[in-house]
Formats: sequence, C-alpha cells, structure tokens
Amino acid sequence: MDQVILRHVTKRFTTKTLGDIVAVDDFNLSVHEGECFSFLGPSGCGKSTTLRMIAGFEDLSEGEIELCGRPVSIKDKNLYIPPEERGLGMVFQSFAVWPHMNVFDNVAFPLQIQKVNKTEIAQRVKEAMKHTSLTGLEEVFPSDLSGGQQQRIALARAIVTQPKVMLLDEPLSNLDPKLRETMRFEIKELQRKFNFTIIFVTHDQSEAMAISDRMMVCDMGKIMQIDTPENLYNKPNSRFVHSFLGESTFINVVIQDGKVFAAGDTQHPLDLEIPKDAGRNMVVATRPNSIDLLKPGEGPGYPTRIDKRIFLTDRTEYLVQVGDQTLKIQVPHRISFAEGDACHVRFVSPMWYPAEDEAAEKERQRRQLV
Ligand code: ATP
Repeated sequence: MDQVILRHVTKRFTTKTLGDIVAVDDFNLSVHEGECFSFLGPSGCGKSTTLRMIAGFEDLSEGEIELCGRPVSIKDKNLYIPPEERGLGMVFQSFAVWPHMNVFDNVAFPLQIQKVNKTEIAQRVKEAMKHTSLTGLEEVFPSDLSGGQQQRIALARAIVTQPKVMLLDEPLSNLDPKLRETMRFEIKELQRKFNFTIIFVTHDQSEAMAISDRMMVCDMGKIMQIDTPENLYNKPNSRFVHSFLGESTFINVVIQDGKVFAAGDTQHPLDLEIPKDAGRNMVVATRPNSIDLLKPGEGPGYPTRIDKRIFLTDRTEYLVQVGDQTLKIQVPHRISFAEGDACHVRFVSPMWYPAEDEAAEKERQRRQLV
C-alpha cells in the first residue's frame, strides 16, 4: 500500500528580492509502506518545502496529499488537516528537545498532549527509551547530554506515538561523521522493529544512498528522477542527476560525418557508438573510475598524455587532455604512469546527454543558487 501520495503538488512563493519562485512544481510521487524514501538535491531544490507540506506546516498552492489512505490536504476542496492530527513522527535538524524538561518528560510530551493515561505513558516511554539506548537517563536534562544523545531523545519522542510515517529532515547534520554513521544504522534498526515508513530529507548523497530504498532527486522545484540508489547512480536520466550522485567527468563532443569528436579536436575521433537520438552537440558522461587508461600499443583509444598525477589513498588520479577539455581518470595503484607519459583513454559504457541546458542555468542564477 502507498502510505504517502502527492498528486500535482505545487508550492509558489512570492519573495521581495527574487520575485516569484515555484519552490515545488507539480510533484507526483508515492511512498510505499515500510519504505525509506529520501528527498535529495542541492540547496533550494524544494526538499524542505515538500516535507513541510506533508507535515501540514505549509499549505499547498495546488494539488493534494494523502497519508495512510486519508486525504490531509486538497487545495481545490480547501481541505487541510493540521499537523497534530496527521499522525506523523517528526525529527528535524535542530534537535528540538525542550531544555527545561528532563529526558522522560521530553519523550512523554506527545502522549501527555494526547491525554494518554499515566500508566500507559510510563510503559510506552520506557519502551521508546530502551530502543533508543536512553534507559537510565530519565531524570537527566538534555543540556547534560551529547549531541547524539539529544538526537536520540528526539527519535524516542517521535517513535513513542507509534507513527506509521516518520519524517526526518536532515536529522543527522548536527552530528560528527562517526556518530552520523552510527545513528543511520540505529534509525534503520528502529524502522525494522517498528515498521514505519520513512521520508528522509538530506543533501548528503552518501547518507541518502546508505539509508534509502528509493530516492527522489530534485532541482529547482522539479523532480528530476525517482529510483533506487543503484539505478540513480548507474542509469541517471539527466546530466544533472549524473553529476549530483557520485563523481562525474563530462566531455563536450561534436558529431560530424558519423564520427564523435571531443570539442577542440577534429583530428582524432573518439571510438564511441553514437546513440540514435543524438544531436550534433552532445555531452559524454562517465565516472572517473569507468575509463580505461592504456599504454600506447596496449589497445585502441584516444591518444593523449598524462598532465597530472595525484596519488590518493586507494587509487591514483590522472588528469589528461581530451580535445580542449580536462578529463579526470581514477585507476588502481597498480596501473602507473608518470606525468608527461603518452597514453590512450577509452570510455567504458558512457552516458550521453544533450549539451548544456542554458535555460536551467539562467533560472539557477535568477534564484541565486549558483
Ligand atoms: P536546503 O537544503 O537549503 O534546506 P531545500 O531543498 O530544502 O533547501 P526549500 O527550503 O524547500 O529548499 O526552498 C525551495 C525554494 O523556495 C528556495 O528557492 C527558497 O528560497 C524558497 N522558499 C522556501 N521557503 C520560503 C518562504 N517561506 N518564503 C519565500 N521563499 C521560500
């Protein structure tokens, strides 16, 4: 069953300095029961606005939202269910624990609001604290606890209401890298135990990839692609998604007389199969670790020289010229070249995209997102 459904959800803001902004443009998506679904994208792409509309903190300009089979926002019918009646668990970036309450009272708070009886509160808080490794800290005040522990209080307070859907907005961004990794596992473990659906907002791609079953990548208020982390990485549908997930290296090419030339070199064609729908000016995209670097004579490839060699911990990075562009290649240490050495480069399963989308670049500048 789909637990969170967005149909044609749009949100417009009118700002004093930037004019009209379509923060969320016609979003359609369904999040399945028990799924961990991430919203991923650069700053200003609309992640938080979408989450706030699902939570009920923000009204829609158009469209409708359904949670666990119940409509909670329908713009056309003026239907709007307030956040406290949506039955969601929420954890936000700032820990948002109440400093004047001890840990027990912080966790118990949502149940007190719901007027649950004292015996049940005690039992449910105990359970939530056990699952977030807070047992024994009932009387302690949050200011005496670490960032990780404070974030656990926020998690405990979210699970104590036994929500079917949990909204997590950059919940780990205030923690140090080691703790972030631990908390990721803890969140997944909690999800396994309580079987809630997660919507996770982050701009950290490796965090999203580690935690998600599926992800939505968006840019400037538009959904660019929704898929599994693996498919988003291996089969990105646009240059934007390709460059947003993992390392990318792009070469502008010109197709002429059935041959592919890197911009700036009309002498040595690249040995690439031209896709059927290719225009004249295209971009060939690949990952720095999906390029063969060969000694001349080892095999065919584009002839060039090593410009720069950078020794990294687990691989060596080389920069080479292809036409008038610089190509980054990463290979295992056992493949070794010196700066100035002649070499051949060969792309392994590259992707093709149309040349730069100037309209998108202009809009990015207008929104001051560059
Ligand atoms: P970040 O990662 O920086 O939090 P985000 O992807 O969550 O970014 P949003 O906060 O959803 O992005 O913002 C989307 C767009 O809407 C941005 O251009 C932002 O400036 C604009 N915006 C968001 N909230 C408001 C508001 N209350 N008033 C006017 N504009 C807003």
